[in-house]
Amino acid sequence: MTSPKAARLQKVFPVELEKFLPEKVLKNYGKWVDRKYHGYGIIEHISETGDRVFTVKVSMPPNARISADTLEKFADVADKLGIGAVRVTMAGNLEILTDSLDKALKIKEEVEKMGFPVGGWGGALWGINSCTAYLTCTTAVVDSPSITKALGDALAPYFSEGGLPAKLRVFVSGCPALCAGGTAIDIAIVGQWGAPPRIREDVIGMCLPPPKALAKVKEAQIFLVQVCPTGALSLRREGDKVKLTLIGEKCINCARCKENCDAFDYDPEDVGVAILVGGKMSNTGGGARLARVLIPWLPANPPRYEEIVAVVKHIVEVWKQHANPGERLADFIDRVGWAKFIELAGLQDIFNYYQQVPEFARTFLHYRGMGEVPKRLRDAL
Ligand code: SF4
Ligand code: SF4
Repeated sequence: MTSPKAARLQKVFPVELEKFLPEKVLKNYGKWVDRKYHGYGIIEHISETGDRVFTVKVSMPPNARISADTLEKFADVADKLGIGAVRVTMAGNLEILTDSLDKALKIKEEVEKMGFPVGGWGGALWGINSCTAYLTCTTAVVDSPSITKALGDALAPYFSEGGLPAKLRVFVSGCPALCAGGTAIDIAIVGQWGAPPRIREDVIGMCLPPPKALAKVKEAQIFLVQVCPTGALSLRREGDKVKLTLIGEKCINCARCKENCDAFDYDPEDVGVAILVGGKMSNTGGGARLARVLIPWLPANPPRYEEIVAVVKHIVEVWKQHANPGERLADFIDRVGWAKFIELAGLQDIFNYYQQVPEFARTFLHYRGMGEVPKRLRDAL
């Protein structure tokens, strides 16, 4: 029976969870007192009962997609060398649990032979998450899993050998919707249309009230005007005709109009990515925050995406060189300030962009979540 104190500490085993857990984890539920690292990718959890569980963190392919056949091979390793349990992490890694360091090292050897690196934890790359994009999604701008693969290859030593000031998480999103996350992360690569969409006059009528009603309705009541976060879409009246127009200088290529109406078309030549930096989910250091746009557009050139890889590697190097030990990228930027960070990164060419675009407008979630467009954003653009 659960003691009243254990109940107060919430160390009461969740109903029906035990059937998913190996005996050793179940037996030590709420009793873990310490942990030790054994190189990157192997962690030892120590219980007050004297039991030990070792976790081996294995990197998965982009979008954490594997075949059933590969999953079976991992399950075989977990049965043969582990305690018959695996865990899927938020960063898209697979953790295999075992009960001795010797077996943990053998698991590492085995999965590395299968072509899957072991790493993460501490001052290391913890993983690169990717949304599905072309794997299943209908609205992708760029092929995020392919970009993830190119980045993963380039940053692999940071996963398996560490050497970074603190934890690093990266996210690649196929479009500005960021539906799979990536707003609160150290570095986000976000598929981005590099220029405003064009309005297809022959079909835009489908997304607007009928002409007679349109002539009478107030601009602020038009749905497409409402969804545009910067006031780039407005009604122009010429005589008794009313037309929806797009003011290119005000457009931030967020694709919100296109998400709501198929009469907006982008030019494939403009396809690229925005690079966001300085977000984090954890409430450590200076607290949680959203990433902000550092570079509004870079070309996305398959198959190896050299420009994107070079910029991400460069940002990591600047952080590595100048951050204090244990300082996440977000906390480092906060300490030195954005202007200094841009200078250290040698990105003076984009400094004007920073001066023109208000800071809050560079935070994706923020400006996309606004209902009414704030006056200061309209004034600044
Ligand atoms: S972020 Fe965009 S591209 Fe990626 S899955 Fe979501 S909607 Fe599709
Ligand atoms: S909704 Fe976004 S992409 Fe469309 S016009 Fe407005 S700012 Fe531009």
